[in-house]
Amino acid sequence: MTAAFILLCLIIIYGVIPTILIRQMGLGIYKKGLKEGAIALTFDDGPDPYYTPQLLDLLKKHGVKATFFVVGKKAKQHPEIIRRMHEEGHEIGLHNYRHVSNWFVLPLFLQQGLHKSARIIEEITGQRPIYYRPPWGHFNIFTWLVQAKYKTIMWTHILGDWKERVGVHGLFQRLKNSLTDRAIIVLHDSGETFGADEKAPGNMISALELLLEEEKAQKMEWVTISDMMNVQTNKQISSM
Ligand SMILES: [Zn+2]
Repeated sequence: MTAAFILLCLIIIYGVIPTILIRQMGLGIYKKGLKEGAIALTFDDGPDPYYTPQLLDLLKKHGVKATFFVVGKKAKQHPEIIRRMHEEGHEIGLHNYRHVSNWFVLPLFLQQGLHKSARIIEEITGQRPIYYRPPWGHFNIFTWLVQAKYKTIMWTHILGDWKERVGVHGLFQRLKNSLTDRAIIVLHDSGETFGADEKAPGNMISALELLLEEEKAQKMEWVTISDMMNVQTNKQISSM
């Protein structure tokens, strides 16, 4: 057996299998909200100094509140964008300190990275994040350590917006098909992530603009994750 093969087996046991099990069985993760008639837009991988302010302008224009799962290191580099998100009524969640898959992160580093990211955001906004979304939706066998501190939010609809080839019109159609009750939609306001196209967030913003001008979209209640989740005082959250 080569060292590479042993390493591959370790990654499968440590990361790939737990990810499949957690996502298939919905263990401690939330894929859908509970507020009737509401929909939650979530944006991962920012803040981005070029695209995120444009996105915030668009959300403000339409009175839409959203949730941003930010990369801690980028939040530290762009505190003014984090402050603006908070001041404009959006929610901020965690997306690791660096955009690294949990398949390659040891539990202690993950914990330290999240703690550091949460502290950065709390110092800027005065509010400590309570939600977490792992990069690429990847977990490892120690995920329960994270779930003890943060609620893990996945998604109902993921639309491939990180690829430019989807196009503005294609993404607009996918967005329209995602307007389902209590849905959590994931989009990306940075194209710097490995596997993403640099200019893809431009398409995403244009497609979202088309969507928010639609009558059906204007009738929906666009809420943050807290608003989506905190309504279930005597209902049990289901990961559905
Ligand atoms: Zn991400």
